[in-house]
Amino acid sequence: MELPFAESYKIKMVESLKRSTRQERTKWIKEAGFNLFNLSSDKVFIDLLTDSGTGAMSDKQWSEMMLGDESYAGASSFFKLKAAIKEITGFEYFLPTHQGRAAENVLFSSKIKEGDIIPGNSHFDTTKGHIEFRKAHAVDCTIDEAFNTTLDHPFKGNVDLNKLEEVLKTYPKEKIPLIIVTVTCNSSGGQPVSMENMRDVKKVADKYGIPVFYDSARFAENAYFIKLREKGYEDKTVREIVREMFSYADGMTMSSKKDAIVNMGGFIGFRHEEDYDAASVFNILFEGYLSYGGMSGRDMNALAQGLYEGTEFDYLETRIGQVAYLGKKLKDYGIPIQYPYGGHAIFVDAKKFLPNVAKEEYIAQTLGIELYIEGGVRGVEIGTLLADRDPDTGENRYPDLELLRLAIPRRVYTNNHMDYVAASIINVFDRRDKIKNGYKIVKEAPILRHFTVKLEKV
Ligand SMILES: *Cc1c(COP(=O)(O)O)cnc(C)c1O
Repeated sequence: MELPFAESYKIKMVESLKRSTRQERTKWIKEAGFNLFNLSSDKVFIDLLTDSGTGAMSDKQWSEMMLGDESYAGASSFFKLKAAIKEITGFEYFLPTHQGRAAENVLFSSKIKEGDIIPGNSHFDTTKGHIEFRKAHAVDCTIDEAFNTTLDHPFKGNVDLNKLEEVLKTYPKEKIPLIIVTVTCNSSGGQPVSMENMRDVKKVADKYGIPVFYDSARFAENAYFIKLREKGYEDKTVREIVREMFSYADGMTMSSKKDAIVNMGGFIGFRHEEDYDAASVFNILFEGYLSYGGMSGRDMNALAQGLYEGTEFDYLETRIGQVAYLGKKLKDYGIPIQYPYGGHAIFVDAKKFLPNVAKEEYIAQTLGIELYIEGGVRGVEIGTLLADRDPDTGENRYPDLELLRLAIPRRVYTNNHMDYVAASIINVFDRRDKIKNGYKIVKEAPILRHFTVKLEKV
């Protein structure tokens, strides 16, 4: 008999989960203004809201916590993290920040001004938020294939080089302070960017003299996909692939809450000293002194260890294998999901799932609410609520895709939990014809509204 796949780790500590009834959940979600972010975690059975900061740290990471050096300046923890970042990414200079968006805030403060144009591949919501907050514009240059959820393209996160070059041709160099390549591309479904594409983006960028920065939250998952899917990389290690990926960038922002498997943390990596110097001023202003920038020494230690663990093949195989396990269950039942499966999440195509709900009534959000009521499973809307209003016209932006994202925390749930999630979705699918009405907004913030929005049933 062929030996089956098994997880590359065992469990040392557990946390209890609380069950609830459909009746309770119906009441709770109404009290939460039909916003899944407003639910307290004890009201959720399986939490797939995000894979950000929700991972389980290893015994080695917890041991590193005890070795943290909390000196204000020059802590050994800083140097440990610096060495890990240099070894894994190749970047000589780095600034610690408290999370990914803080890295964006610091970097963009030194680079972006009003009226600037920032091309990239489906910028992440906080990235876009930080760009638009500065009255600059994010221009999406993702390949068109990304918007066809049924198409099985190996690198749907890729940048369309023609679209990119068009932007670089149209605007003067002074208006384009950087190009942002997101690996993997979260907003397009956790889809990877190929090495070839990264190489080509750098070539085009060099031609126009524009720096390239990677939004790197899931860089290791991206590298794993390159190893599996791109010719010439089958025999390279994940770490070798990571090093090559970053060799085509001038710097990176990192949300360590993702692929570095810590609960909080971030950093910026730089190739050039001038970029580091320019950003340092803002790091001190917003985050903290250069050698801790919003992180405790112990957290920097755990992060350094997490960078090594997060780039191990066996771990990535277990992690991405679990996402695919859930994906296959849904596929086998005919649930409309995005293909290929993402690295960190399964994205349910809500427009196809709920064809009777009008786009003005927030289709993916409606599906998210139904799934919560069905099984206490919490996903997140990647649709019209997240897309927010156009900053110029104030009108709702209706994205091509209305997705319900089911993000799988790292090393947290078992495949029995995935079976439970699949069954909950299947139950909603079986009664989808009866779901006709969505929701309307009764309260919303001027920016990043999805976190705090309040809704009412139409
Ligand atoms: C999570 C994330 C961010 C923001 O990081 P935080 O740690 O949540 O502030 C930026 N970009 C991408 C692609 C992300 O996934």
